[in-house]
Amino acid sequence: MNVVLARWCCLARYRPTESQMQRFERDDEGFLAWRAAHPAGFIVNCNPTPSLDYLMLHRASCHFMNELPKDYKHWTHAFIKVCAEEKGVLSVWCHSEVGGAPSSCQHCDPMAPA
Ligand SMILES: [Zn+2]
Repeated sequence: MNVVLARWCCLARYRPTESQMQRFERDDEGFLAWRAAHPAGFIVNCNPTPSLDYLMLHRASCHFMNELPKDYKHWTHAFIKVCAEEKGVLSVWCHSEVGGAPSSCQHCDPMAPA
């Protein structure tokens, strides 16, 4: 196996692919469609430039991912949503993109066994 191919394999294995993970920024419709299609999925809520200051893991079924706060008109403008069926994929993304683990929502307790 040549070096380029070996590198590609590593990236493919350790970087979530688009099919495993989706990022919604200024795309409420896309986010709502994803949430409807993945009721058992997971969502990281974070700033458009993700940082450890605010990186919160929720279940897609969480109250806070289904009821927009009163003062907000959009899901994916002030904060963006990074979504996946597997929370492990989001954990890898958080470590590679932001360099740390997300906080867990106290309300939906996403780290508890399903
Ligand atoms: Zn939650």
